[in-house]
Amino acid sequence: KPDIFYKVDIVVIGAGQAGLSAAYHLKREGIEPGKGFVVLDDEFGSGGAWQHRWDTLTLSNVNGINDLPGLAFDAVVDKDDKGLQANVALPKYYEQYEKTFDLPVIRPIRVTEVIERKGRFLIHTNGVQFSARGIINATGTWKTPNCPKYPGWEKFKGRQLHTGEYHGPEEFRGKHVIIVGAGISAVQLLGEISKVTSTTWVTRRSPDFRHYEFNPELGREAVAMVEERVRQGLPPKSVVSVTGLPITPAIEEMLNSGKLDRLPMFDEITENGVRWNDGTTMDADVIFWNTGFRHSLDHLAHLNLVTEDGGVVMAGQLATQVAKDPRIHLTGYGPSASTIGANRAGRAAARELIDFLQLK
Ligand code: FAD
Repeated sequence: KPDIFYKVDIVVIGAGQAGLSAAYHLKREGIEPGKGFVVLDDEFGSGGAWQHRWDTLTLSNVNGINDLPGLAFDAVVDKDDKGLQANVALPKYYEQYEKTFDLPVIRPIRVTEVIERKGRFLIHTNGVQFSARGIINATGTWKTPNCPKYPGWEKFKGRQLHTGEYHGPEEFRGKHVIIVGAGISAVQLLGEISKVTSTTWVTRRSPDFRHYEFNPELGREAVAMVEERVRQGLPPKSVVSVTGLPITPAIEEMLNSGKLDRLPMFDEITENGVRWNDGTTMDADVIFWNTGFRHSLDHLAHLNLVTEDGGVVMAGQLATQVAKDPRIHLTGYGPSASTIGANRAGRAAARELIDFLQLK
């Protein structure tokens, strides 16, 4: 059957912080919602990846939520309610945001493939098809977990899960959990799981704990380093890989109690646990992979944006513009993979794309 393509100037893919910020600025710059641009999101509800974060991630232990442009977070959510779950608060905020600015978010609709035809982009989805002159891709990372497959993976009789499937520590009570990974999620979740059950921490490299207070200047330096990488087409690194893990009072306590004594990465997974090459074995009920996420860009594969180094060469004021094709912007990518970065990236991407396409 012939596909009907709905023509717009710009398609924004993803309605998390990065996509909503871009949508706000497109509208503000005079691009007509619905006819000039649409936002496509594959979730049933508002909230982007936040709606899937675990229940124990609350306003007291998130790293910090930056307001979206034009509507303060605390105008919708009581910021002082520190026990409030992030997976409740952020979806509520984003839903109100979409309503307040009447943003043209279409959901649930999953973009499966983007191809170029006669100077336009054809955006294939599991629903309606779109044709656009420019794209702002804001698909985040949550849908593409990194999970290395170790030998014996399939033999394990216990449970393996990734950060993205975690709900809270209670489900592990009474079980021995091997936690893999050296990033912030691994350390935070090890902290809460080790309060209810026995744990073993396993990392490939020695974790990079550092004595410092996180401050905005340090954050800016780290973001600048990530930006430099993406401008060279290198895969973006997380900010923590640049700054190391700050030793907070909670981490200090874990270090002192021995909970953060780590073992090197095991070499094999067995039926009942894991084994190292020196013959040492350890039984486990659960192997919990906190091995990060990669940017969700698979639907753009046909556009051949990724370099041999595994990144995309980025340009533009805030490195949101794809150097090879300025009609494509990636927001929430690399230096803008935070709520504050996503906000700024949305504005830069909207303005630069409008200029490039001469929509005004
Ligand atoms: P997302 O929120 O992931 O939104 C992307 C949207 O695109 C989703 O709705 C997704 O379903 C949709 N999508 C994906 N693929 C497709 C497709 N093919 N078709 C259609 N739709 C699609 N940052 C902070 O600033 N503060 C914090 O405290 C913080 N805590 C974090 C905690 C964890 C555990 C993690 C993993 C990250 C955290 N971050 C934090 C980083 C955070 O992810 C970003 O700040 C930001 O919220 C990401 O926004 P986004 O719009 O880029 O992505």
